[in-house]
Amino acid sequence: MELTNTAYIRELLERHGFRFSKSLGQNFLTAAWVPEDIAAAGVPEEDLGVLEVGPGIGCLTRELSKRAEKVVSIELDRALKPILAETLADCPNVEIVYGDALKLDLAALAEDKLGGLKKAVCANLPYNVTSPLLTAFIEADCFDTITVMIQREVARRICAGSGCADYGAFGIFVQWHMEAELLFDVPPSCFMPQPKVTSSVIRLKRRGRPPAQAEDEGLLFRIVRAAFNQRRKTLVNALSSQLGKVTKEQAERAIANCGFDTRIRGEALDIGGFAKISDEIGRIVQADL
Ligand code: SAM
Repeated sequence: MELTNTAYIRELLERHGFRFSKSLGQNFLTAAWVPEDIAAAGVPEEDLGVLEVGPGIGCLTRELSKRAEKVVSIELDRALKPILAETLADCPNVEIVYGDALKLDLAALAEDKLGGLKKAVCANLPYNVTSPLLTAFIEADCFDTITVMIQREVARRICAGSGCADYGAFGIFVQWHMEAELLFDVPPSCFMPQPKVTSSVIRLKRRGRPPAQAEDEGLLFRIVRAAFNQRRKTLVNALSSQLGKVTKEQAERAIANCGFDTRIRGEALDIGGFAKISDEIGRIVQADL
């Protein structure tokens, strides 16, 4: 593919006087198989409306355009505008929106641009804003799948289960809403300029319902965050020091009532365990009022 050929990219960027911005996470792909495989994983059906963030010079955008019904792609760097006008001139089903994906209302944009189509996200994300972007995609609540290339380290955290060193609050948040799957790794040699880290492609699929039941999701996630803010502490100590209204005795009682050892740490609990403890803490605090 021309758009991943380094000599072609250099000539294109030079002709347009383009300079890479590190702060915008600009690492463009230089291996044709990568955008092909990401698009194949992210757009398995032809009738999808796809949101991309960060088209760069458009190599993944072109692959998405071949497979999807419509592609809307958000790019923050306006210096790429004349380049994308050239590289995507023959892709009539692609619309580029210039703006900051973190500041846009993604649900409204998707509804406006992708209308009644089934919606998916597919992108090679700027790595410095991976977590806020993934949070925004999930909270937009309209994308059935989210297939993205991100730093391998973050991918591992998102897909980790309890007991793993990578297990943490962000992974639990993602897995509460989505089923997470690690698809494949991409080495630094596939990019220009080359990043210092390995990348991974993950696919998230929206769940019909969360993996466990919780009476109060707000409380559940306050508990999860407290547990991993101080992951070396026992759950009792982490909760009683960080959850304003919960005493040490109440935290101990809730954990014991759920059948867990009161010396347990949050990292040993799966999502269902957190949900159980969250419901019990809610009940105990209410009853003790
Ligand atoms: N898709 C291209 C590729 O795979 O070669 C480029 C991916 S590059 C890793 C990330 C892209 O995201 C860059 O084009 C960058 O300008 C853009 N970007 C960075 N922050 C952004 C933001 N907040 N909103 C929209 N685009 C952003």
